[in-house]
Amino acid sequence: MKTKIYQNKVNITERQEKNEQHSLDTIQLTSDSFVTKTRIKQYYKAIRKEATNTKLIKIQSIIEALDYQDSDRYLKRIERTKECLNIAIQDNDNLIQSRCNQDRLCQNCARAKSSQRIEDYKGDLTRLAEDKGLYFVTLTAPTCKERELRATITKRLKAFAKVKDNMRKRYNIKLNGLRKLECTYNRDTHKYHAHFHFVIQGEAEAYLLRDLWLNQFRDASIKAQDVREIKVSKDDASNLIEVFKYATKGVVKDTEDAHAEYHILRAIDRRRIFQTFGELKKTRTTEMSETDTKKIDWTAPNREIFAFENKCKDWTSANGDRLVNLNTIQVQRYERKERKEISDKSNCERTRTNSETITRGERVDKRLCSQKESVCKKQKVNR
Ligand SMILES: [Zn+2]
Repeated sequence: MKTKIYQNKVNITERQEKNEQHSLDTIQLTSDSFVTKTRIKQYYKAIRKEATNTKLIKIQSIIEALDYQDSDRYLKRIERTKECLNIAIQDNDNLIQSRCNQDRLCQNCARAKSSQRIEDYKGDLTRLAEDKGLYFVTLTAPTCKERELRATITKRLKAFAKVKDNMRKRYNIKLNGLRKLECTYNRDTHKYHAHFHFVIQGEAEAYLLRDLWLNQFRDASIKAQDVREIKVSKDDASNLIEVFKYATKGVVKDTEDAHAEYHILRAIDRRRIFQTFGELKKTRTTEMSETDTKKIDWTAPNREIFAFENKCKDWTSANGDRLVNLNTIQVQRYERKERKEISDKSNCERTRTNSETITRGERVDKRLCSQKESVCKKQKVNR
C-alpha cells in the first residue's frame, strides 16, 4: 500500500514536471523574442506550400477528368510537386529539406528560381544600365481562345526571333537583355493572354523592338505595349531587382482556375519561357540545388523529423510539435517592426544629410545632429 502511494506521488511529480516543461516550451515558442527572420521565411514557405497543394489537387482532378493521352506525365509532375519540402529534418541548427524544382507548378520553387536569377544577372544588368540605360518593355498582341493557345505562343516566340534577327541584319543592332514569356487567363472573356516582358539595354533599342513587334502584329495596339526606364545606379539596384522579380517570376499565370492553368501548362510545355540574349548570354545560370538547407535559430539545436500537414499549414513532429508555430498576428507584428526600423533608419540618415547640407560652410551644429541620432537610438530601444 505504502509503495502504491509512493508510486502515485512520484507519478504526480513527474507529470507536474512534464507540464512545467511543456508550458515552458510553449512560452519559449510563442514569445516574440524568438520570432526571427528565418522563422518568418519558413512561415511563408508553409503558406505557399499549402496554397500549392490545394491548387495541385484541383489540377489533378482536371487532368483525370480530361484524360488526355499524356495525362500520366502531368500526374507524375503533380506527385513530385506534392513531395516538395514535405519533410523537414532538423540536424542540430540546420534545417534540411528537398525541393521538386518544378517551378512552373510549385510556388516555393518558382520563388527560389526567381531569386537565383536575380543573383545570376544583377551584376551584368547593372553594368549594361551604366552604359546605355535599361528599359522594361512589355509586348502584347490580342488574346486568344483555348484551342489557339499553343499556336499563338509559337507565333509570338517566332515573331520575337524574327524581330531580333531583323535588328541585327537591317539596323546593325545587337540586342542585349532578357525576355520572359507570360500567359494569363481572363475569367470574364474566357480568353488567354500570352505576352512578353523584356529587360533591354538602350532606349533606341527598346523602342525599335516595340515598333518592329507592332509590324509583326498588325492587329496589336500601340497602347497595349509598354516601355519604361528602369532607374539603376551603381549604389542602388533596388528598381532593377523589383522589375527583375516581376519579369522573371516563375508563376506564369494569375488565375485560380485550375482548368486554365492545366491548359497553360500544356501550351508552354518544352518551351523556353526565359531567355537571355546578346551580352547577357555569357552569364551561365547555375543549376538549382535539390536540397534546401537553412539555419534554424528559433529552437534549441536538436535532431527531429517534421512532416508537412496541410491542415495546420505547418510541419509537425511525431509528438505533434509544430516546426514554425507562428500565427498571423505574430508575423504582422514582426513585419511592422521591421518596416518601422527601416523607415526610422532612412529618416535618421536623411536628417543627418539635411543637417550636413544646411550647415555646410557654417559652424556645424553637432548638438542637433547627435540629439536626433539619440532620439532614433532611444526609439529603437523602446521598441
Ligand atoms: Zn517545389
